[in-house]
Amino acid sequence: MVKKIFLSIFITSALSVTAATAAALLSSSEGIGAVILFAVVILLITCLSAFLTACKIVRPIKNIDPTQPRFRKVYKELSPLLDRLKKQNGRVNRYMAELTDSREQFSLITESMKDGIVIVDPKTIILSCNSAAFQLLGVPPLTEGQSIYALSNDEPFRRCIQDAMGGLRSEIVISTDMGDRKVIASPASISDAINGIVVFIMDVTEEQALEKMRREFTSNVSHELKTPLTTIYGISDMLANGMVRAENVAEFGGNIRREADRLISLINDIVSLSRLDETDAPRQWEEVELYSLSEEIIDRLSKTAEKKNITAKVTGEKVAVMGDRIILSEVIYNLCENAIKYNKEGGNYTIRISHIPMKAVITVTDTGIGIPEEHLDRIFERFYRVDKSRSQKIKGTGLGLSIVKHGVGYHKGTVRAVNSDEGMVFIVELPIKNTDE
Ligand code: ADP
Repeated sequence: MVKKIFLSIFITSALSVTAATAAALLSSSEGIGAVILFAVVILLITCLSAFLTACKIVRPIKNIDPTQPRFRKVYKELSPLLDRLKKQNGRVNRYMAELTDSREQFSLITESMKDGIVIVDPKTIILSCNSAAFQLLGVPPLTEGQSIYALSNDEPFRRCIQDAMGGLRSEIVISTDMGDRKVIASPASISDAINGIVVFIMDVTEEQALEKMRREFTSNVSHELKTPLTTIYGISDMLANGMVRAENVAEFGGNIRREADRLISLINDIVSLSRLDETDAPRQWEEVELYSLSEEIIDRLSKTAEKKNITAKVTGEKVAVMGDRIILSEVIYNLCENAIKYNKEGGNYTIRISHIPMKAVITVTDTGIGIPEEHLDRIFERFYRVDKSRSQKIKGTGLGLSIVKHGVGYHKGTVRAVNSDEGMVFIVELPIKNTDE
């Protein structure tokens, strides 16, 4: 601006000097040198004065603050321009405030997420990344401007990102020291051009463990069902072909019956477990009084107990919990059945019902063979039987205690097993009032 004003003043002054000089030259041919010198001096002075004038005019304009009304009074001519500037300024400030607001809101939302979210540009540079993303992958905090490969440089992760960059939604599970993580990379494209990708990172440790358990369960069930069926098939085949002597038929028949019994218990246990696995099944919550329920169960098991001369009793107090009666009776039944199965001839077992703040406690104590300490951690696993040779003589499926654990978990309670001087002690704690009621 200074330059333009300077030029206009300078050109106007220079033209007047040139015109005056030309007039002087035309009127007298003498003293041309003096006239030229005079013209040059005048031009220089014009030049300096034009520059100073231009600066003087422009200086206050440079300092104009369109938001201050006092400037309007000074420069009335600039008023429309200042108005427009003020409006524009207001609009820009509003946009900036909105942008900051939505950015803060976006970061507030993403920061409160348990899953990681990373937005990446087409050159794999991070545009936005929440804390969960780097925490889940156990890497130091990342900032915008870093490459997404700072999260992980493993080949599967790179391939997942590259696939998404190529327009394909890609999904992988990676194992870290902290657990299993699912990474989903999704391309963001407008009219076929990839504008970037959005990467989600989730903790799937529990899901993966459940999936593994389900696979193992299916293979164990098939194995456990196949064994008695193969025996039944073999024996009945021999009977059908007349390969068994008449005096042995009863014994072979007994074997078939034993294996069929085993199949029935196995199927019953599997049905109980799958019922507990059905998380969507409607809950039959009701008030269940544990003392009388325990008495009922002792009664149901009395015949089995009599065969080993085992005595049983319920002690403690009447405590009621909100829960599913069938599942709670399965829990106590399985603990008592084990207290008989793994007890000595002539032994005993006791169910004690008591309560601690907000919780009911069921303690089943027996005088049996106990469980070696090193097995205590695993007895609640599906199909786990302590020392196959010792358990072989005692019928069982290896599912009883997992039904107990699952049933107790269904009521948001806990179960633990400890050895006592005499035998085993199983302690179940159940919330008296369930939050899911
Ligand atoms: P099972 O059908 O074999 O009894 P469980 O899941 O009920 O299966 O029990 C798992 C294992 O824990 C059993 O095989 C047994 O070795 C051990 N066990 C369970 N309860 C007792 C107990 N009261 N005393 C001694 N050992 C027990």
